[in-house]
Amino acid sequence: MEKVAIYGAGDFGQKLYGFLKSLGCQIELFIQSSKTDINDYEGVPVVTIEEYLGGEYGFFIFIAIQNRNVVNSIKGIFEQHHYDMSRVFCWNIFLEENYFIGKKILPGQKICNLCRHSCDSFLPSGHESRLFSELKVIGGGYRENAVCPYCGSLDRNRWVFRVLQEKTDILSSKCKVLHFAPEEMIRKRIKENANCDYYAGDIVLNTENHQVDVTDIQFKDNFFDYILINHVMEHVADERKAFRELKRVLKENGTLVLSFPITLEAETFENEEISSEEDRLRYFGQKDHVRLYGKDFKERIEGFGWRVSVYSPGKEVSMQEAERSGFLPEDILLLCRPI
Ligand SMILES: [Zn+2]
Repeated sequence: MEKVAIYGAGDFGQKLYGFLKSLGCQIELFIQSSKTDINDYEGVPVVTIEEYLGGEYGFFIFIAIQNRNVVNSIKGIFEQHHYDMSRVFCWNIFLEENYFIGKKILPGQKICNLCRHSCDSFLPSGHESRLFSELKVIGGGYRENAVCPYCGSLDRNRWVFRVLQEKTDILSSKCKVLHFAPEEMIRKRIKENANCDYYAGDIVLNTENHQVDVTDIQFKDNFFDYILINHVMEHVADERKAFRELKRVLKENGTLVLSFPITLEAETFENEEISSEEDRLRYFGQKDHVRLYGKDFKERIEGFGWRVSVYSPGKEVSMQEAERSGFLPEDILLLCRPI
């Protein structure tokens, strides 16, 4: 079993220590930012970060701190010391991982981060598309290891959730969320945050959704902290108007969580004259798509007045984790802030 250290020897770290122990996780060390009188907790040594980084440890680090900014500044210190960042986790992600370690997941088994079930393999999804395979479209077409057999979530849904956990405070903070075309399991997990004021929006009205047209949103200005809009924009003809509306209803320090099928083999392609289902299937890969986003996707979204951060499993997590969690290594999720 991996050696594990908890960063944070205060109340919160100690509580999580007890919980992790009950799951069968072996914690060998506590790390804290500065020297205190406490040298150990229940026999587990407490060291400062300088002492830790000066030693030959290489443990899995579990940052047991709730404030996201403090977590990020601690991560920054590890990064500066060229620590293997695939071994440094925020507490909730670490808990997720250790919950599974506690369940003794066998090598080769898969874990769904959305429903927390393990399985021997995910199931295939997507339709064969000549265009999608020729252009190596990310997030579309047929994939072997895509669907969780328990909750039905897709590879890209799991990646969205992983980024939400790691890069945002949507799962813990008091926030207003608008979720377009809501992916069922992501909706469920966001709603577990009792402080979250959650609005599901879709073009079609049903008992759980508000009917929302992304090019004409009925909410007032600066209303939402988060808007999630995955695999919607490729269906929207008036893209500029949609991004203007999203910007209007999002708070100044809010975050837009955005993804769509992308090819890195060509520039974004759209053409108003391509309007029949047959032609759209041929040129955009699906009969209800109006464009195919290309390698200029970042500049394109920035051009609509956003600051764009790009997250891919291949850059953010170890290959082992990507494989186990069923992420597509090349998957792309964008977190966009209004400018
Ligand atoms: Zn699942």
